[in-house]
Amino acid sequence: MEDKTVNLLKKTFSEYYKRNKSRISEPSRFTEREFGYWPFDGFMQRHMAVVKFSTFIDELILNAPKGVYASCSYYDDPSLPMEEKGWNGGDLAFDIDCDDLELKCKREHDRWICRDCKKIGIGLRPKACTKCKENKIIVLNWSCVMCLDAAKEEIIKLNDILMDDFGINKKEISIFFSGNKGYHLTVESSVYEKLDKHERREIVNYVLAKELDLKYMGFDKKTSFNDLISRLPQSNEPGWRGRLMEFFENYEDSSLKNFNKTEKVAKIYNSKTIKFNSLFEEGIKNVRSTIDPLVTSDTSRIFRLPNSLHEKSGLCKTLCNSIDSFDPYTQSVVLDDELIKININFCPKFTLKGISYGPYKSQTLSLPKYAAIYLMSNKLAQVA
Ligand SMILES: [Zn+2]
Ligand SMILES: [Zn+2]
Repeated sequence: MEDKTVNLLKKTFSEYYKRNKSRISEPSRFTEREFGYWPFDGFMQRHMAVVKFSTFIDELILNAPKGVYASCSYYDDPSLPMEEKGWNGGDLAFDIDCDDLELKCKREHDRWICRDCKKIGIGLRPKACTKCKENKIIVLNWSCVMCLDAAKEEIIKLNDILMDDFGINKKEISIFFSGNKGYHLTVESSVYEKLDKHERREIVNYVLAKELDLKYMGFDKKTSFNDLISRLPQSNEPGWRGRLMEFFENYEDSSLKNFNKTEKVAKIYNSKTIKFNSLFEEGIKNVRSTIDPLVTSDTSRIFRLPNSLHEKSGLCKTLCNSIDSFDPYTQSVVLDDELIKININFCPKFTLKGISYGPYKSQTLSLPKYAAIYLMSNKLAQVA
């Protein structure tokens, strides 16, 4: 990134923290949490203890970091090295990233760009530029409305699993837009806060619906049709049995429309033309929540601070009071609309605050600050 562009990003981030001092509220039990931040030009600063929260914000204004973080864990002394901090438990934390969801739209909007000859290619990055054969390639890992809608579906499923299967109370759960590619969910002050990393790993395996087996649902090739019907679960049963049964019941096959729901599932299971194991795999993908397994089980991780800016978008990490109606491309746009002149290499069409921009290719334009910073943070533009 050019100096001019980095300087503008730093200035913008610093101004944001200055103007929004009161917006960035202190996390619960903040004196027990480890804080950290990552400067635009330097290494991640970690293991910071915060005694007075407003002093920490003053430090953000002064240093204008690209990312600001706080631990999910609580410690006796957060400023000590990890093994000496004295761990006292922590929030349960989950991360959903649209890049993990194998979405079709990625094949359409992801690009690679050659820094030498400016060739732009669609899809996965080649070993070398297909035009000039140089290896100076920038990968454009874009995200679109469909990407974030898919991530939202996963976080809604996770929320339901935590409430229905783990008995977590709604008021203990907070859902956030991460500021870039997905959603975070944290559970505070619950009976789960003392779980160690191995126990958290068990929750991960449950949420990812690992090791489910058809035999736990009563499916058996050796039994009669009537016996099979009597063994199958009801779709209103709690847990995976009910969720998967509901998935199977919704399978569309016009030749089975005269059967009741349970009979239909038994027919599908015994069908010679439908591959039931593939349908089961599809069902698992449909009902589980695709969380990042490493985040939840890592008790020493620091998480982006709510209402701080994300360096890859200029959007802010935002609490979603109503996840169903939450629109990240409106509600997380917090920078102002002062015009900034930028050189754009390339970008797909995008919409911020209800206004559509692009697609652009090799253009110099003046855009509102929030849109200009969005492109520069995505490494698709520079200050002109
Ligand atoms: Zn090239
Ligand atoms: Zn997409």
